[in-house]
Amino acid sequence: MASLRTFLDSLPDEEILRFEEPIELDYTPTALVLELEKQQKFPVLRFESPNGYDMPVVANLFANRDRIARIAGAPDAASFNETWLRAENNPIPPRMVESGPVQEVVFTGDDVDVQTLPISRHFKADAGRYIGSGILVCKDPDTGVRNLSFQRLQMKGRNRFGASLHSRGHIWDHWLRAQKRGKNLEVAVVIGAHPAIYLAAGAKVAMEVDEFDIAGGLLGKPVDLVKCQTIDIEVPAEAEIVIEGELLADVAEDEGPYGEYTGYSTFRSTRNVFVVKAVTRRAKPIYFDLIPGNSSEHLLLGRCAKEAHVFERLREVIPDVKALNYPKSGTHFHAYVSLEKRAEGQARHALMLLFGLDAYLKLAIVVDEDIDIYNEEDILFALATRFQADTDLFVVPKVFCNRLDPSAVDGMSAKMGIDATISKDFDADRIALPPEAIERAKAALEKLMP
Ligand code: MN
Repeated sequence: MASLRTFLDSLPDEEILRFEEPIELDYTPTALVLELEKQQKFPVLRFESPNGYDMPVVANLFANRDRIARIAGAPDAASFNETWLRAENNPIPPRMVESGPVQEVVFTGDDVDVQTLPISRHFKADAGRYIGSGILVCKDPDTGVRNLSFQRLQMKGRNRFGASLHSRGHIWDHWLRAQKRGKNLEVAVVIGAHPAIYLAAGAKVAMEVDEFDIAGGLLGKPVDLVKCQTIDIEVPAEAEIVIEGELLADVAEDEGPYGEYTGYSTFRSTRNVFVVKAVTRRAKPIYFDLIPGNSSEHLLLGRCAKEAHVFERLREVIPDVKALNYPKSGTHFHAYVSLEKRAEGQARHALMLLFGLDAYLKLAIVVDEDIDIYNEEDILFALATRFQADTDLFVVPKVFCNRLDPSAVDGMSAKMGIDATISKDFDADRIALPPEAIERAKAALEKLMP
C-alpha cells in the first residue's frame, strides 16, 4: 500500500514535529513553517487538533531535498535526478481496483459541505481559505489521457471554489477544448496521497503521458485507482480525501489574490469556477496542507521534477553540462548551470537551449565545474572574476513568460544569459594550498578544539 499515512509512519520521530494541543489553523502552520525555515529546519508538522475541525493536518512534507529524494526512492539528494529519469523512462501504468478507503465515507448532493474540511488561510492578503495541496485529475477531452496538476482553489461556499489555471498547463488546454464544445471539464481534487504521486503531479512530461504512470515508476508498482462516484475520473484508492466536480465552461468569477511562489500576492487569475458534486474520504482522514508563497516546500515541489527533466534535455545535446540548479532565491525564474567547457561558445549554446526548454526562466548563469552552483557566494565570485558585461552576456527581449512575474509586461519578459566561465585568454590560477598543509592545520585544530 502506498499512502500518505504509510509514508508518515516510515518517517523517523525526529523528522516530525507534533502539536497535540488545539491550534488556530488560519496562518499558524504558515508562520511555523517560515520561522523554522529561518532556522534552517524542515520537519514535517502534524497538528492533531486544529480548532473547529475533526481531523489532523500535516504540512511541510516536501521542504527539503533529502526527504524528496527518499520519497522518490533515491538513496540521497545527489541521486534524485537519476532516480527520477529512471521512473520517467520506465513508467508503470496504474491498476483499477473495485473499492478503496478513499470512499469509506461519501457525501453527495445537499450533504456536500467542503467547509467542514480544515482548509485554512495562509497569508494576510489572501482572498480567503485556499486548497493549494489538491492534485487536480482530469482527462484530455479528445484522447482521454489523464492529467495530474496543481492549481489553486479558493473556497467560496459549501460546494463552490474559484480556480486559477494560470500555469497554462495541460489542464488549461483540456478546459479550453471542452469549453469550445460548451462542455464542463470533470475534475477530481485529491488531497493527501502518497507523496510520490505529488512529485509525479509536478512532472513536466508530454501531454500524452499519464502522470500516474510516472508515480508508478517512482513507487516501483502500479498506483491502485478507483472510479469516482459522480464523474468519469479515477483517483488513488489509498488517498485521504477526494473532491469530485466540474470546471464550468461558461462562468467566470473573481478569484484571488493568493500568496504565490513568487513571494507576492497576486490577483492574476484565469477566473475559473469549480462546482463540487461529491466529497469522498476515509473514515478518519488526514488533511495535507501545502504551505504556499515562496516556502521551500512550494518551490521544491514545483522544481525538483522540472530540474531533473530539463537537465536531461540539456545533457542530450551538450553532454558536458554537469549540473543544473534552480535556486530558491530566484523563485522559478533563475538557473545556474555547471559546465565542463570544451569549446568557446558552448556556454551560450547551453543558455539558448535552457531558455527554449523553460519559459519561466529570466536569468541563467553558466559557470565552470570548480564553482559550486548550490552556493550563491560561489556564483557571485565567478561573476566577479570571470565575467565582463560587454561581451559575456546577451539579452533576448519580449519573450513569453510566466504571468505571475510581477515585473512582466504583457505576459512577456526579457531573458538574460550570462557566460561566467573562464575564457581561453584567461591568465590567472586560483590560489591553493598544498594538501599536506591542510591536513596539518586540521590536525592542529583538532588538538586545540576537539
Ligand atoms: Mn500532463
